[in-house]
Amino acid sequence: MRSLVWFRSDLRTVDNTALYRACKLSGGDSKGAGVIGLFVVSPAEWKAHAYAPAKVDLILRTLRELSRSLAAINIPLLVRIARSARDVPQTVLNVARTNSCDALWFNKEYEVNETARDAAVTRACTREGLKAFACTDQSLIEPGEIRTGEGRPYTVFTPFKKACVKHLSQDATVPLPAPRQLAAMPVLPDEVPTSVPGWLSTVPADRWPAGEATAHSRLDSFVNTLAAAYKQNRDFPSLAATSELSPHLTVGSISPRQCVAAALAANNGSFDAGNDGLVCWISEVLWREFYIYVMHSFPKVCKHRAFVAWTESVRWLNNDAHFEAWKEGRTGVPIVDAGMRQLVAEGWMHNRVRMITAMYLSKNLLIDWRLGEDWFMRNLVDGFLASNNGGWQWSASTGTDAAPYFRIFNPITQSERFDSDGAYIRRYVPELAALGGDVIHDPSRLPPIARAKVDYPDMLVDLSTSRQRAIDAFAAAKP
Ligand code: FAD
Repeated sequence: MRSLVWFRSDLRTVDNTALYRACKLSGGDSKGAGVIGLFVVSPAEWKAHAYAPAKVDLILRTLRELSRSLAAINIPLLVRIARSARDVPQTVLNVARTNSCDALWFNKEYEVNETARDAAVTRACTREGLKAFACTDQSLIEPGEIRTGEGRPYTVFTPFKKACVKHLSQDATVPLPAPRQLAAMPVLPDEVPTSVPGWLSTVPADRWPAGEATAHSRLDSFVNTLAAAYKQNRDFPSLAATSELSPHLTVGSISPRQCVAAALAANNGSFDAGNDGLVCWISEVLWREFYIYVMHSFPKVCKHRAFVAWTESVRWLNNDAHFEAWKEGRTGVPIVDAGMRQLVAEGWMHNRVRMITAMYLSKNLLIDWRLGEDWFMRNLVDGFLASNNGGWQWSASTGTDAAPYFRIFNPITQSERFDSDGAYIRRYVPELAALGGDVIHDPSRLPPIARAKVDYPDMLVDLSTSRQRAIDAFAAAKP
């Protein structure tokens, strides 16, 4: 049997469930056996899902690495372009037919459109007599497999995490090895395109080196060095204290199972005792798991709907000028502007600052969180619907286990607490670099003459009245 493995957000050879199983099935020496890889460049889908240029660039660079690794084990990677999302099933089927494949393998994705697309591909294959195998790989546990005692989906993180840990402790988290070398095949790999029209990234490629080897060495160095102080340092955006593995997890050059297995190996197999940095980090990886689970259990969150239905009645102000200022990092709140500028410059933002900027948009500016979610997606190298939606709905108090609507971060207090020396602000807001002391967090504290000399905007809104305005808007919407 010859197998076609359709790669999507799983661009790796090690611990890739679909690839591993395909090689088991089709890795024999008999005539007609073998495994072929496929990646479908799908600009229409990418456009509809607001892929960032930096993310597309990372995907293409990762694909080149993947193609080389696959070629070394005699698996040619073919690359095809689908003009519209509707063309994807036919594109996959054509490759399978042309190359005499009997089976299609892929790792499941859980967004609504992706689920429908995969069902269409599976139907098309089955009609043609091909077997289609969909594997669990993007999450540690198949979403939906764990439920509350009453048989309902979890909506609160802590009990979800407990259930995950119980499940994972019983079902060891051992990553799958890379497939062994297969017999040579008479099919040549395709060139991977270096760019796709419409996605020109301005983020320097060396900010996000691509590929499995890079992801592995990042994971190793994080687990063996930074992890020890992760719990204490992870909230300080000027420190390189987190793993920065999110882009790799998004394109799949590393798997969540590899992450958890490495952390457990360094922590004597314990999820909840020992090195508190590793324990805390595993918990963060499980937040990703939680948001995939939420998206699978409540598909409405994929369709621009709030998880908490009544919050759909909040009357957002959606002031265009305020939204533009937020996007461009000109709100007059230094920590917010630093974050928004980091996002555009690097395609990434520190988690603490993602929360601050998201809460500032949805609460102080009272702008619909969906606009912010979309802007993040258009810029993030790690843009991942489940986590982005989860993070936005958490910050806007519309989601599962979200921040209560009346508990609103004061961005200046957050700045003083998590960027006390202003190092993060100075890095991204150079016009404030010369300010010292506490004024870096709030230049309106400068005496008027000194303030007039700093080329930096005044705050768009007063933080205290806008806070109360948000509380009132939520209270008015609440039944
Ligand atoms: P680490 O601190 O090293 O954590 C390890 C991994 O755990 C991360 O790579 C990530 O996969 C996962 N993780 C950590 N924190 C969270 C979290 N709060 N929610 C879900 N998973 C988490 N993450 C994305 O991967 N893609 C997104 O599009 C995204 N959008 C976000 C939007 C908002 C408004 C917020 C508040 C958070 C968002 N996050 C998103 C979650 C989080 O900010 C990033 O995963 C994290 O900053 C990535 O940095 P890291 O890899 O160094 O994380």
